[in-house]
Formats: sequence, structure tokens, C-alpha cells
Amino acid sequence: MKASHVFNVGSKLPELLLPLNEIVGNLRWSWHVPSAELFRWIDPELWESTKRNPAALLDRVPMARIAELASDPRFVEQLNKIAADLRRHRSSSGYFQIKYPHENLQVAYFSPEFGITEALPQYSGGLGVLAGDHLKSASSLGIPIVGVGLYYRDGYFSQSLRSDGWQHETYSHDPDTDRLVSSDPSHRFELPIGNDSLTVAIRIATVGRITLLLLDTDLEVNEVPLRNVSDRLYGGDRTHRLLQEILLGIGGVRALDALGVRADVFHMNEGHAGFLTLERIRKFRASGLNMQEAIEATRATTMFTTHTPVPAGIDRFDRGLIETYLGPYLKSMDLDLDEFLALGSAGRDFGSDEFNMAHMGLRLSGRANGVSRDHGFVSRELFSDLWPQLDVSQIPIEHVTNGVHARSWTLAKIDELLSKTLLDSWPEADVKEYDRFLEVNPLEIASAKRTAKMVLVDAIERRLKKSDYKVARDGQSTHSVSITPDTLVIGFARRFAPYKRATLLLRDKDRLLAMLRNSERPVAFVFAGKAHPADDPGKEMIASILSFARDNGVSDRFIFVPDYDISIARSLYQGVDVWLNTPRRPLEASGTSGMKAAMNGTLNCSILDGWWSECYDAKNGFAPTSAPDGLDNNEIDAYETASIFETLEEEVIPLYFNKNANGDRLAWYEMVRYSMASLVPYISGARMVKDYTDDFYVPLARRSERLFEDDFAGIKELTQWKAKIRAAFENVRIYSFDVVPGLPAEESNDDDGGSSDLRELHIEVSAEGLAAQDLRVEVLYGPVLPGSTEFARYETLEATFTGSYMTSHELSHGKDEQPTEVNLYRAAFDAKGGGTFGYLIQVFPSNPNLAKEFEMGLRIHS
Ligand SMILES: *Cc1c(COP(=O)(O)O)cnc(C)c1O
Repeated sequence: MKASHVFNVGSKLPELLLPLNEIVGNLRWSWHVPSAELFRWIDPELWESTKRNPAALLDRVPMARIAELASDPRFVEQLNKIAADLRRHRSSSGYFQIKYPHENLQVAYFSPEFGITEALPQYSGGLGVLAGDHLKSASSLGIPIVGVGLYYRDGYFSQSLRSDGWQHETYSHDPDTDRLVSSDPSHRFELPIGNDSLTVAIRIATVGRITLLLLDTDLEVNEVPLRNVSDRLYGGDRTHRLLQEILLGIGGVRALDALGVRADVFHMNEGHAGFLTLERIRKFRASGLNMQEAIEATRATTMFTTHTPVPAGIDRFDRGLIETYLGPYLKSMDLDLDEFLALGSAGRDFGSDEFNMAHMGLRLSGRANGVSRDHGFVSRELFSDLWPQLDVSQIPIEHVTNGVHARSWTLAKIDELLSKTLLDSWPEADVKEYDRFLEVNPLEIASAKRTAKMVLVDAIERRLKKSDYKVARDGQSTHSVSITPDTLVIGFARRFAPYKRATLLLRDKDRLLAMLRNSERPVAFVFAGKAHPADDPGKEMIASILSFARDNGVSDRFIFVPDYDISIARSLYQGVDVWLNTPRRPLEASGTSGMKAAMNGTLNCSILDGWWSECYDAKNGFAPTSAPDGLDNNEIDAYETASIFETLEEEVIPLYFNKNANGDRLAWYEMVRYSMASLVPYISGARMVKDYTDDFYVPLARRSERLFEDDFAGIKELTQWKAKIRAAFENVRIYSFDVVPGLPAEESNDDDGGSSDLRELHIEVSAEGLAAQDLRVEVLYGPVLPGSTEFARYETLEATFTGSYMTSHELSHGKDEQPTEVNLYRAAFDAKGGGTFGYLIQVFPSNPNLAKEFEMGLRIHS
């Protein structure tokens, strides 16, 4: 598919400079250093003052300068080189084309926010930046994705500080951002909202080879208030949020249709996009499927990624709102309101009469995942109500650990170093290849970091100068920052959500001040981050950081930088030495800021939560001890404050200030080098999108292609089969089972000396109304933990069906006098090694066409 671009800048460009339009019109410049350098060449000051927005830059640059550049052969040559490189990037074969030459896949990735560049502020934090990195990484690997989001006229708020340190939010429309997305008046469609209809414009951004559709309701034809649906990100009440989600989900599918874009897999980045399933059910109904079949077809082509372990972080709507704004639409597609509400019904941990977007997302997705290994565990637990018959470990929510788009975040000098030691394609290299990085001279990293630190100081001072907040007690504005190349700089930047505990170290002010006032080992902290507009405790944390610094005269080294965005975040990842992360476990689903820091030779010092708990290996960073189980929040905070101080005082600071005879920080940068070699290949966005492609997108697409053949024959069959199973599964019983003793113990040939102890299980299962092949009977067996029945570990064995018989009347239980058919199964296992052994028999529906073994959630066990 081709994006159509309508950029006005071309009108004033001379022929020779026309390729500039192409380069500006593709957001690849946001991670492609030569493109950014080209824009800087045009006018370095304008480049910075337009927030690095090349469209705005071209609009404002004087004609005389344009003429000058057109007559500079070096500029023209470089321009043509970059334009040719962009064309090559868009048409070349990447990972996907090489691995799947015959796959005709198209994924639609829906997200309420996309953080691609600071010049396009359509993001609030981690979720949006991750979505941007997903598209960019997919572009680099050639993975066929189209992004779908909203175009927020005012974006997210800019943050300033009142003179007392309280956060102030400003929403405003910056027309420069509009220049980065095209808008063609013919790209419009109608969206039903309640009894009204809203006209939606589709704006298009191009991200390398990826197209991103952004939906905009700010059109003359629409009347206020509906016209304001896309006014700002996360800025309104529940109604506003619901309308935005209708726009994203239902509108997003309509936008794809309006442009004739096919999609085989729909990926929901969090529950906000959940209504896309509704529009797709409606379409399947219109093509002749019944409701259950339409739901099955939708599930077959949908995946859901959950991002938060905090129940309060999940969108919920009450019945009245849903009825008002979706009622007529539901009626038009013949979907009963109660039937629909049941899809989003909640339970434990959630308000039980609310409609829960994550629950709907999970119920209508063939596959689902959390965003780190630990978050997989937490999510299976959090949503276990949806699958009450399953063991938590069987809940069909997997995990794909997040990653970050390497080239968007990495310091140019470090990029060079990695390119030199590995290849230009280092973001895609695997762990083994990173052994070569261990031979790099650590002082080369040190030199790159030294420069980046001073660039950071510059960026901080520029931001402080713009702020009204007076850092000195006498009310003077001072913007000086006491950071030299020798200072150990500890960074902390992220949303100021209370669970991230930005102010944890303020619990022990004396200990903190001792650290800050040590002139032999200078340490500075740099904080940045926005609190959600409605989050007063978050704002409180910002104010207390500022007042602590002011009251104790340490504002020059305990610094809060206002107006957190991608630009200051990047300078921080690149310029600080240590990235501090203090979430309350297990609330950090993944976290990605630490990954971006690690990629830049910054060492993580983080509580073991999210991605860090998976990647920390005791040598690649620091992990303060977490509080033991069973404490309350206050005790946890006290415990972890002490352990973070201890880590900083006893490990981080001594290592940083340990210089060799030449005055070099060799030991520190050796650790940095190791940290990069061990982490970068794993935390790269390339690894993340490969995982999604290989384990989710391609299998979903292949399965649905098979099930959709011959007018949805497979879907219809699967739907009928599921209906049969649902009706009959309650009849399934494990009728009896027996361990058959006396099997000859076989001679052991194990090295561990344990002798074999073979057992055979005879299992009888009655399953009225079902055939033997509708079910799978398994034996789970293994040693159990001392004094409990919990498996220490277990293996799974499928029992073999050996025949069936009819019970006689005498054996029938209770008043059920009818003879039943009983299926016989056998399984032999080896209770090797002695000790206490356990086993469990489980029976569940089985069909090769299921997307996931336990997707029906039906299971009985012994
Ligand atoms: C990476 C990033 C985040 C995510 O930070 P975490 O605290 O790790 O989730 C948020 N905002 C910006 C601007 C980022 O670049």
C-alpha cells in the first residue's frame, strides 16, 4: 500500500532540492542521523527552535538560504544520497521478506498513542513510546504493519511549574505538528456515535516503510462537543474516553476499509482499542456468519497485549454510558446489549457491574500477552477469574518482553562503536555476536559518555532557563547545574505515578544529603516526568523533590527538569551514568526507560521488577535487595529505601570513583561494556518485533487463512464443535483411576543413581455426548515440595485412549440409572528418584484448530 502525501513545502523549493520533500515526508528522519544532520545543515538554530520539526523548518527558512543551499553541490549531493537511501530502505528486503518469502501478511496495530518524535507529541509515556518503537522496529525489519491511532489536536499537555513547585498543565494546538501528517480531503468516513454521526478525517504519517493512520474529528462539518473527541490525549471524563475509544476501535477499522487496506491480524496495544472487535464482528455478520461464528472469526484474527498489572489502570465504563453511545450501533448489528456487556463483564479486583475493556479484549482475542516474563505471571493471576477452571499457569496469556528501537535512542558515538565492532545491523544481531563487543576499549565508551554528559548539562540548563520556578530560597532564578565530567550523575525520568516511588530516597534525607554534600565524590540526581493531570499524589512528589532541593541548598545537583518529553528523555539516557528505578513490585509491567539507558552505556540500578528481573545477571548492573514478602507498603518502602542507599553507597559510588593509575574509570566502563554486550541484543526492538511476528502474527495469520477457506468452513465447524463441547463438558467426569502396581522396575541407566520406578495409570473418563477425540486426558507427575502437595516440578504426559465400555446398571451412581459409556486411558510414568511424588489427571477439550490449548477455559482434574 502507498501513502499519499500532500506537503505544501514543495511549492517554494527549487528543482534541485525537491528530494527534500521526500525526506521530510517520512518520519524516518527521527531516527536516521544523516537526515537530521542534513536539516541541521539547513539552519541549526531553526532546527532546534522548531523542536526538530523539518516541515516547520522548511516553512520558515528564508528563500535566500534555500537558494544558497541549492547552489551548494555538497548539500545537493548529500541530499540525493539520503533520498536514494530512503527509497532503498522502503523497497529493500528485511528480516520478514527473507524469512517469510511467501507470506502475504498484513498486521494492523492499534494504539491510543504513538510516540515517534518530540515534534509529534501524540504520546503520554511508556505505552505510546513503545508503540512508536514497535512501528520503527517493524519498519527496519520489513514487517508489514499498518499503525492505527488518533490524531490529538492538542497532543498531551506541556508541563510547567508554578513558583511553589506545583505542576501546571497547558494544552495547546501547535500547527507545526500538523505539517508532519498529510491530510487528503477525500480520506473521510462516517462514524455512528449514539444517535449521531461523526465525520472522521484520516491523517497519514509515514514511518520508514510503515503507514500510520491517525483519526481526526476536528472538522468544520462536525458540531461541538463531538467535534472535540480527538482534542487531547487522556484529557477528559469517562464519556470523553469512551468516545475516543469508539473512534479508535470502530473508527480504526472503518479507516482501513475507507483506504482499502486489508489486515489479517489486528493487534490491540492495551484495551483502549478493544471496540475494533465489534466492528469486525459486525462485518463478519454482514458477510453471512451468525453471531457465534463472527465472534470466532474475530478471535482468529485478533491479539491483545496487556500493559498494566494495576486494576485501576484498566479502562472501565458503566452500563449507562455504553447504552447511550453504543446502543444504536449494537442494535443495528443485532447484538443484544446484555450479550455485549457480558463480553466485558468484570469480577474480582474490578467493579463487578462495569464493562471492562481488558476483559473484552481477552475474550475476543485468539492470543494474548503481557510485556515481560514477570508481567506474564502477574497477568495470568490478575485475569484468572476469566478462566476459573484452569490452573493459573495454564491461563492463555503469554509474554513478549518489550524492546526499544535502538537507533532512535542511541548516542551517535555509541552507534558508531557498535557498528564498527558488530555490523551496521547491530540492533538485529544476536547475543553470540555481541561477544565481539567485549573486546572494545572501554575508554572509547568513556569518552562518548563524557561528551554526552556535557550535552545533557546544556539541555538541562536550557530547560531550567525557560521555567518560572525559582530554585533559590531568596527567590532568585539560578539555572546553574553543578555537574562536571567527574560527577556521578543518577537519572530518574518517567511518569510520576505513585507506584514508581520517585521520592523514595527522600525518606532518609540525612543519608541523601550526606551523599549530595560529599565534595570528594560528587553525585548529582536528575529527575524529570509528568504526573497525570488528575493525579495529585504524583504532583505532590514533584513538589517535594523541588522543595527538598531548595530547602537544603542542593538545587544545583538535585535537579528536576520540567516538561519531560522524548527529547529530554533521550539526552538523559545518553548523558547520565546510572539509571535509577524504584517501582513497587510487581507493578512495573516492563519499563523501557532502563533499556534505553542500558543501550547508551548507562548502568541500571533497579528494583528487580519488570524487564530488569528477567535480564539482571548480577554483573550487568545493580539490583538493591527487595523487601521480603508479608510487609505492608510502609515497611516495604522503608526496607527498600535502606537497600537502595546501601547499593549506592557500597557498590555504585565506590566503583564509579575507582580510577586506575592513569586516572581512568576502567573498572566502571568494563562493567558498562559487559552490561551492553549482555543486554542490547535482548532489549532491542528488533528482538521484540521478531517475537511478535514469529510467535503471534504469522501463526495467527496462517491459522485464520486455513479456517476462512471455502466461505469460512473451518470457522463454522469450530463454532459448532465449541457449542457441542460447551453443552456437554459438564457431563465429563473422571470416573475412576488406579495406579497399577507391580510393574517390573527396570534397570536404571541414569547417571544420577536414581532407580526407575515405573507406574501405570488406568483412567476411566465418562463423557456423555462427546467423542474420545474431543478430549485430551493428561497426567501431570513429579516430585512435590516437602510437606505439601505443590509440585516442585512436573512433567506432562498424554494418556492413550484404549477403548470404551458401557457401565452396567449396578455401577451407576445415585438416581442416574442410565448406563453410561466410559472411555479407558492408560499412561505410564516413572516416579524416579524417590521422595514424595505426586500426580494429577486433567481432562480438557482438544481440537487441532484451537488457537491455544486451553482457550476454552474448560478443564476438570482429579
Ligand atoms: C521510555 C519512555 C518512557 C517509559 O518509561 P518507563 O518508566 O520505563 O516505563 C516514558 N516516557 C518517555 C518519553 C520515554 O522515552
